[in-house]
Amino acid sequence: MPVMVQNKKTGEWYNAGGSWLSKGARKRILERGGNRCAYCGATENLTVDHVIARNCGGALKDENNLIPACKPCNSARGDKGVRAFVAYNKAAHGVDPRGVIAGIARQIGHKNF
Ligand SMILES: [Zn+2]
Repeated sequence: MPVMVQNKKTGEWYNAGGSWLSKGARKRILERGGNRCAYCGATENLTVDHVIARNCGGALKDENNLIPACKPCNSARGDKGVRAFVAYNKAAHGVDPRGVIAGIARQIGHKNF
């Protein structure tokens, strides 16, 4: 079953399971991120995560707003911003935050998140 997510601002529903993104775009995003979760480095169960959440104005299909994230990180992040999630991950799970923000900025080509 696809995971359907509702945009809180527009009320629009979309498939969060990946079919909203072309296979080519998904592959490019995962490869750009070294096929590793941008938050914890996991290589299994990778999803594509919005750096700036859609309900915060992030673009749905903009590859400069998308990074690989494993399912546990993606769901743990929820509505948190990237920086808040990285801080939470350090406090809750001891995940070393060094390089995470820089790595994401390198992947998407900007630091505006
Ligand atoms: Zn992860």
